[in-house]
Amino acid sequence: MNVKVLIVGNGPGGVELAKQLSEDHEVTIVEKETVPYYTKPMLSHYVAGDVKEENLFPYSLDWYRKKGIELLLGTTAKKIDTKKKTLETDRGTLEYDILVLATGAGPRKLQIPGSEKMLTLRTIDDAKKLKEAIEKERELVIIGGGFIGLELAGNLSKKGFKVRVVEKTTSLMGLDGDLTERIKKELEKYGVEFYLGRDVERIENDVLVTDKEEIPSKVILCSIGIVPETTLAEESGLAVNRGVLVDRTFKTSESNVYAIGDCAEHNGIICGTAKAAMAHAKVLANNLRGIPDEYDFQFRSSYFKFGDFPIAVLGTLTKDGNWLDSETKAFYRDGKIVGVVVFEDMKKARDWEERLRSSR
Ligand code: FAD
Repeated sequence: MNVKVLIVGNGPGGVELAKQLSEDHEVTIVEKETVPYYTKPMLSHYVAGDVKEENLFPYSLDWYRKKGIELLLGTTAKKIDTKKKTLETDRGTLEYDILVLATGAGPRKLQIPGSEKMLTLRTIDDAKKLKEAIEKERELVIIGGGFIGLELAGNLSKKGFKVRVVEKTTSLMGLDGDLTERIKKELEKYGVEFYLGRDVERIENDVLVTDKEEIPSKVILCSIGIVPETTLAEESGLAVNRGVLVDRTFKTSESNVYAIGDCAEHNGIICGTAKAAMAHAKVLANNLRGIPDEYDFQFRSSYFKFGDFPIAVLGTLTKDGNWLDSETKAFYRDGKIVGVVVFEDMKKARDWEERLRSSR
């Protein structure tokens, strides 16, 4: 008899795992949203008007059927009974042999006076609201200098929208001073304005008030990071910190229950990218098939594009950095290169990724 795998969450982690296991496992996905999988990294292109809504959906409902994946949309998972191996949902109880939490994350929200006026960007519904608002006003203030805000800033400013980025620290994406300066310069070419090192105090009459100035804007997006979705895990008695605690094989504190993607935490690390969520799914699929595999949480591998400007962040970024050429900055530990940031040439970045991985 086939092993019953129940996956909660139809994001890149959940779908990749379903794809990997559907040939020889009985796979069901439980998803609270009512639409099939869509590509979150494309949402900022959709908001900018570069991608049509229908092109955000790579897999049709028919694709799930053909793969033999049962997709239960509009179904919220409520509680796991780890002894009976059942999952209670708002539409009934399901049995499992293996249960995988791929519940992702929600947007972190800033609590300041007037914050109810701020938008967030995580789901397709969020994207629709944001698109409607900026099409009317043609401008946006983004609070947060992380990769999601910068992707959006690049894509929107390229299309002629006025974009301002306000960030609490003096760094973009947590990178060092000269990497921050380089990204800032590239985005300024499109007309993006940066307000770094600002404390956001309140929103008042379409104005964002910081500790240094007042920035007028009718549309304000809060993009200051993610909060892993751990409600189900907590309700079910699993060990949780910021995310659901897992080992390098994605085992949680309960047997036969695993967690992958943005909801999973290992040694304080939450990966927070679609690329990582899919890589987690592949490692877990191997282990569930009896092929021992582990995920290297310490090794960062992120590729982004801000407008037409690509950047890769690879390996471990230490405090000891040095430019190898105008596009490549290397980071050292004990004299050995352990991390690299590459601008522009993504083939070079992939070569570096291979070198860094093979030298670990
Ligand atoms: P998610 O994609 O968050 O999916 C989790 C799913 O679980 C959701 O559909 C949710 O509805 C469902 N769920 C949660 N709780 C329950 C429950 N109790 N019952 C039923 N269903 C539940 N990553 C990159 O690698 N590169 C990029 O360029 C990039 N750009 C991005 C741009 C934007 C605008 C955004 C929002 C994200 C971007 N990301 C990017 C990040 C990436 O999308 C996430 O890291 C990724 O989606 C995480 O995948 P996941 O499967 O862990 O969770």
